[in-house]
Amino acid sequence: MNRALLLLGLVALWATPLSAQNFPTKVVTMVVPFTAGGPTDTVARLIAAPMSKVLKQQVIVENVGGAGGTIAAARVAKASPDGYTILIHHIGMSTAPALYRKLPYKPLEDFEPIGLINEVPMTLVSRRDFPPKDLKDLIAYVKANKDKVTYANAGLGAASHLCGMLFMTTIQTDLTTVPYKGTADVIKDLLGGQVDFTCDQTTNTTSQIKAGRIKVYGVTTKTRLASLPNIPTMDEAGLKGFEVSVWHGLYGPKGTPKPVIETLTKALQVALKDATVKQRFNDLGTEPIAEKRATPEALRTQLKTETDRWSPIIKKAGVYAD
Ligand code: ASP
Repeated sequence: MNRALLLLGLVALWATPLSAQNFPTKVVTMVVPFTAGGPTDTVARLIAAPMSKVLKQQVIVENVGGAGGTIAAARVAKASPDGYTILIHHIGMSTAPALYRKLPYKPLEDFEPIGLINEVPMTLVSRRDFPPKDLKDLIAYVKANKDKVTYANAGLGAASHLCGMLFMTTIQTDLTTVPYKGTADVIKDLLGGQVDFTCDQTTNTTSQIKAGRIKVYGVTTKTRLASLPNIPTMDEAGLKGFEVSVWHGLYGPKGTPKPVIETLTKALQVALKDATVKQRFNDLGTEPIAEKRATPEALRTQLKTETDRWSPIIKKAGVYAD
């Protein structure tokens, strides 16, 4: 029996390329589909540091923004499947197939999931001097001024776009949207007063809200957040059932050898237990996913479930890009 097992192990080892057995022997690039300084970038940089320690190789972050995150995903889908180029992406992985008619990749088929990272609430926020004082006011204001109000987002399929789309369909009002390559730039322009409002992850808005530099109308979770206890939920503030939660996952290109994916999953799981990661996530209104969900299987299931959930919502909204 033992001998049979040993033999099986040897065969598996023989079938695995040497490069996969030694992985990693050089820098690993984590591609972020939005600009530096935004919420996806923040999560990436926080986990890259402890992952580098586990892997004994540097995990560097590369920002490839544009088209709601689809440019970066397309790039990683075509990268060499060796574990040295990986993608961090959010809920947008599950919505792109319904939004983009010519998506150059299939999220469910062209990637090897590594694991889920976290779930993060969103906040509906505006420039500080935007007139509406609460959510009810905001709804009335945007309806009355729909030709001049601007809603900024990080492109079609970005979380900020999805949240805005849900908001506009719920209040049955179409607004002018202004696309950016990431919400780091959106917040900059909210601070400068160039755009009126947006919906963004708490990982990007919490410190600005606390400092009073932007106005907040609600959080998109069912219950209030410990990090922003005085902010009502959208549901409480007047939009019954309004709920959006953003989740992040880590992926390699399809065909990345299993031992390489296992090494990356292990590094992710260790990173999610890192004290700094936990603390920073906490401060920013999120928390690391439980270890049993920081796995390829859990991410695959999440991607499938969310793709099935969002497709009909997007089709009903009639939004798409060619
Ligand atoms: N929060 C952005 C979004 O709307 C993405 C980012 O800049 O990280 O999806």
